[in-house]
Amino acid sequence: MKIFEEIKQVLGEGNIEKIELEGSEIIVYVKSKEIIINQENYVKEIVNKIKKRVEIRAVKDLLLDEEEAKKKILELVPREANIKEIYFDRDSCIVYILAEKPGLIIGKGAELIRRIKKEIFWSLKIERLPILKSTIMENIRKMFIAESSFRKNFLNEVGKKILKEIKEKRNWIRIIPLGGYGEIGRSCTLLETPKSKILIDCGVNIGNFNEFYPIFNLDEFDYNLIDAIIVSHSHLDHIGAIPLLYEMGYDGPLYMTEPTLHLSTLLWLDFMEVIHKSGLQKFYSIHGIKEAIRRAVTLKYGEVADISSDVKLTFYNAGHILGSAICHLHIGEGLHNIVYAVDQKYGKSLLLDQVNTVFPRLETLIIETTYGAKEDKMPPRKEVEKEFLDIVNKTMERGGICLIPSFSVERAQELMAILYLNNFQHPIYLDGMIWEANEIFSAYPDYMGKTMRKLIKEGKNVFTSDIFKRIGSRQDREKAWEDKPCVIISTSGMLTGGPAIEHLKALCENEKNTLIFVGYQAVGTLGRKIQRGEREILLQENGKQVPFKINMEVFTSNGLSGHSDRRQLLAYIGDINIKPKKIICCHGEFSKTQEFANDVEKIFKIKTFTPINLESVRCI
Ligand SMILES: [Zn+2]
Repeated sequence: MKIFEEIKQVLGEGNIEKIELEGSEIIVYVKSKEIIINQENYVKEIVNKIKKRVEIRAVKDLLLDEEEAKKKILELVPREANIKEIYFDRDSCIVYILAEKPGLIIGKGAELIRRIKKEIFWSLKIERLPILKSTIMENIRKMFIAESSFRKNFLNEVGKKILKEIKEKRNWIRIIPLGGYGEIGRSCTLLETPKSKILIDCGVNIGNFNEFYPIFNLDEFDYNLIDAIIVSHSHLDHIGAIPLLYEMGYDGPLYMTEPTLHLSTLLWLDFMEVIHKSGLQKFYSIHGIKEAIRRAVTLKYGEVADISSDVKLTFYNAGHILGSAICHLHIGEGLHNIVYAVDQKYGKSLLLDQVNTVFPRLETLIIETTYGAKEDKMPPRKEVEKEFLDIVNKTMERGGICLIPSFSVERAQELMAILYLNNFQHPIYLDGMIWEANEIFSAYPDYMGKTMRKLIKEGKNVFTSDIFKRIGSRQDREKAWEDKPCVIISTSGMLTGGPAIEHLKALCENEKNTLIFVGYQAVGTLGRKIQRGEREILLQENGKQVPFKINMEVFTSNGLSGHSDRRQLLAYIGDINIKPKKIICCHGEFSKTQEFANDVEKIFKIKTFTPINLESVRCI
């Protein structure tokens, strides 16, 4: 292979033991101490030549004995880093260090890490230990260790496929919408390039069991021919059907950020339970989830990765939820560039910075239109927070309980941050998976916005505060109902299931209480019905439909959304550093999508498209 020849030229053939592939990364095992010591310069030189990601590792013979290496690491790293675990992967010549403060191992300008490498010759991978113990994260880590030889082979195969010289299969690039176009839910986009097929997101429509999955039964969609799946973020309308694809037989890689992998696993497991309990339909099993995790490849923001023979992927912060990404796809050698900015926030929240606006190149922009209509105007963030706190405080004053149905990921943590930073004095109960999500959040301060990172550094960490109480059982729930006044934040966010329903039954008939909606309520959900004014509802109790009256105050807080509103979407299009040639609008109720697209054409003079599912758009 030409690339390998270039590497041999730089490093000298005699110094190389073997070259392996780990997905898009090329791993070169070398026998020369000099190369290991000066590896940064060598890597730079190679990357300049071949434009691929390269890592240099020492061969086994050069590695310092494991016990000695461990001693050396503990000697060089300051105690405050709080190393919890050191383990060695001899097959890959990597030492993993799990620590509370990984920054202290890396050192200023990566100085310390360089020094350690020079002494022990092992490659170093440093992981942050979550402040809260997370079972999900621990299990995934254990699974990766147990499956390391499977993953090594798998990634090698993926890498070979990426580097394989293949002929063009077609001379066009097109976007085939399989779900989430002209609607919200089951987001799924098939991208066809001259040499490959990439799937972006694969969600479910939780509000509509008749159109639950993306549309898979068309000739263009053959999972055997899909090179890669990209996941933008861990909401069910973007990830819900992914384990199903693995059960159907897809066995390729799944690209996402690390927080997205952990949060998605949490949501998949929970969703599987919910679906199985409801008996609504046969869905995926634990097998599908495991297969997805085994083949997950995580990327950091800004890291460029080849994911097929003609597509390079880069994730950027989307500002939507922890780990959420907008995807930049560079196709061919400068042939075409697509940015998939579906679910994004052009505005700062307490937890996250706003969505990225700077790209190396861009021709086609795919953008959400959840709040794209003229009436979708969110008030300024500060006002929204004040109004939210006012409603909560009023309920507290009259001795009531605030029930806030919320997504377990991001919205709940955003509410926690608002209450915590405003010195809220009453108990705050968290029910559903919010606690498990908090554990994952606590592990990723690096993925949070500047404000939050600064607060955490100053010791003000919302995730370790004791004003929050976990509800883990029916008894805890009953205790919370007695502990008036208080706030209960509970899943699910649209009242489609989960413990929020139990809370609703217990609290809805008392007018002292308040129900606060803080997120989008999809058509067909109970949340939407109550939000639209229905005050007599039927809920399942002991297998029967029982009527309940909604006497509690109902309030909707609109501006807490993790989505851009219309004004922000328009500002975003105007502020991106490159004016796109085409804009494809999706992820919105059809009328809103159309209204938004028309206005974009008028304002920016850019050609827009509003396809519904299956109406493909040709990029070139
Ligand atoms: Zn989302």
